[in-house]
Amino acid sequence: MNLVVLGAPGSGKGTQAAILSQRFDIKHVSSGDLLRDSVAREDELGKEIEGIIATGKLVPDILVLRLVREAILEEGGGKWDGWILDGYPRTAEQAEALEEVLSSARVVIDAVIFLDVDSDEVVTRLSSRRICSSCQSVYNTLNHPPKHEGKCDKCGGELVQRSDDQPETIRRRLKVYNEETVPVLDFYELRYDVYRVDGSKPIADITDEIAGLVGL
Ligand code: AMP
Repeated sequence: MNLVVLGAPGSGKGTQAAILSQRFDIKHVSSGDLLRDSVAREDELGKEIEGIIATGKLVPDILVLRLVREAILEEGGGKWDGWILDGYPRTAEQAEALEEVLSSARVVIDAVIFLDVDSDEVVTRLSSRRICSSCQSVYNTLNHPPKHEGKCDKCGGELVQRSDDQPETIRRRLKVYNEETVPVLDFYELRYDVYRVDGSKPIADITDEIAGLVGL
């Protein structure tokens, strides 16, 4: 099954995609993680990407598309039963580009999930989000704290705040989301089954709802 999950930054896309990936052997493809992996390589391109992410703007389409295309078309040796795309597409142009990639590879999107969360809630969530610097697991000091403060439950790594989870950058990211990403919903509503899910519910309830809606 191939899924696209849409929603504002902080709506829980990454959290849900990670759970669904583990539970149903679907590959989690996060454009943000792919870009952060490039940054971690510390080459010229990585430095350029790091600078863009830090401002909350979008990384140029051509760079992101290349990473996403490789990830979703990679064979994976039969390990995965499809993919769940998180953070891509973020603009109508990216949605069009993805259509072209998929149609030339004869691959289809089975369903689109939209996680609906109001913007005040999103700002609160992003400000209290913490990430494991080692395994990238996501926590939230308000509603999903680690068992031991500052330490990852899974690997014991140090929890840090993402550089783009600062107030000024959060505001920019939400503006970009409202202007650029909201139109992607209209694009998909004309083509696919789009399921709107209330993203303010408990994490486990959302996962069950998504699984039921898309037939996993
Ligand atoms: P995320 O982890 O999805 O919140 O993404 C973090 C940052 O990576 C975004 O604020 C953008 O700067 C960049 N990014 C992630 N996905 C995309 C995309 N599809 N197109 C352009 N930039 C992206």
